[in-house]
Amino acid sequence: MLEDKDRIFTNIYGMRDRSLKGAQARGHWDGTAGIIKKGRDWIIDEMKKSGLRGRGGAGFPTGLKWSFMPKESDGRPAYLVVNADESEPGTCKDREIMRHDPHTLVEGCLIASFAMNAHACYIYIRGEYIREKEALQAAIDEAYDAGLLGKNAAGSGWDFDLYLTHGAGAYICGEETALLESLEGKKGMPRMKPPFPAGAGLYGCPTTVNNVESIAVVPTILRRGGDWFAGFGRQNNAGTKLFAISGHVNKPCVVEEAMSISFEELIETHCGGIRGGWDNLKAVIPGGSSVPCVRGEKMRDATMDFDYLRGELGSGLGTAAVIVMDQSTDIIKAIWRLSKFYKHESCGQCTPCREGTGWMMRVMDRLVTGEAEVEEIGMLFDVTKQVEGHTICALGDAAAWPIQGLIRNFRDEIEDRIKHKRGPIAAE
Ligand code: NAD
Ligand code: SF4
Repeated sequence: MLEDKDRIFTNIYGMRDRSLKGAQARGHWDGTAGIIKKGRDWIIDEMKKSGLRGRGGAGFPTGLKWSFMPKESDGRPAYLVVNADESEPGTCKDREIMRHDPHTLVEGCLIASFAMNAHACYIYIRGEYIREKEALQAAIDEAYDAGLLGKNAAGSGWDFDLYLTHGAGAYICGEETALLESLEGKKGMPRMKPPFPAGAGLYGCPTTVNNVESIAVVPTILRRGGDWFAGFGRQNNAGTKLFAISGHVNKPCVVEEAMSISFEELIETHCGGIRGGWDNLKAVIPGGSSVPCVRGEKMRDATMDFDYLRGELGSGLGTAAVIVMDQSTDIIKAIWRLSKFYKHESCGQCTPCREGTGWMMRVMDRLVTGEAEVEEIGMLFDVTKQVEGHTICALGDAAAWPIQGLIRNFRDEIEDRIKHKRGPIAAE
């Protein structure tokens, strides 16, 4: 179990003072100017050394992403954009940072922006996050009043402005280029990549888009050193990580743990075990709704990191939103509900996603009620393969993968329902 002294987020449960005074008492905003004065190259090297991989779901190495930004200005301003549009079903970790530990993010924005030559940063927060927006805005206001933002921010010699923008409730605006479109005041529709945002991002200028947690951990990593962070987890899966555990555990929670912790330890230490015991575990979605589900018996010994969950179990760490389902779960209905979600949230600009999400959902409608034919299971799997990898953004994959996981892991249950023409299991 991670010791308290190694936790970056010291107020994740909101038991302490989240104001600037409280944050400073817990070590935040300590020596910020000194970190900045060490220079861009030092900061980016330390971030590379830390092994931090993006905490928004994709796990792209953060230091490497920062190094894509132009070293010298070519006349265009550079921007940091923080993706706080946390909308992946099951995911609620960034919410806790913004509610209870907002100064970790505000300080991170200053340091990361400096490292990327940006004098301005925009945080794009999910429309439904009203209280989180208020808490974050209060922290930003406090930081301005204390001279930590604005001209000569925190006495670093760097002029820096931080803006908070409120989304309007569209899941697709969490996709980084749709988010940029939305920030520019346009309809939130993903752009083709490349160019990646570092080449042409906000208003066509060099931009890095990072997740809230990725930026909030930066000040502590730089204060304690990249090697300190890299000492948790294992190679290529380093650091501490917020896990959001929901569903059929005795105590759902958001907790910071070392990467590569075993699933069993995570659940036993922080969640009071599985409801009804381990034999009652049916399935787990280990990384937010976009990754395939895994059968319960394969999860108990699982290592909770990017490489194990993808390589060994064909799933993924994603946002580390761990959705636990016990034997009372109608797994076909649970995945059907996700299909409905993705169909609803598709922006509709590319055909495989617009049409494919509708096709998939209609077959799922028939599977859930047991009205489909057995042959439709294979046909549905083929449709998911036509969507996967053939779309502009990752929403197409995200719609296809949960269904693939269902068919791979629970084909017996689908066939049984069709054979007996059974409807959904009633919820307990
Ligand atoms: P991605 O792998 O395409 O990109 C990840 C990041 O790396 C992006 O910032 C991208 O610009 C950068 N990148 C990738 N290749 C690059 C290259 N060759 N050159 C320069 N930069 C490069 O993934 P994505 O579409 O950004 O994210 C998909 C993930 O988002 C999914 O895995 C899902 O888990 C997650 N997700 C999270 C939420 C949430 O609420 N946090 C919501 C939906 C989806
Ligand atoms: Fe829009 Fe779906 Fe295409 Fe993404 S994959 S751009 S959400 S239609």
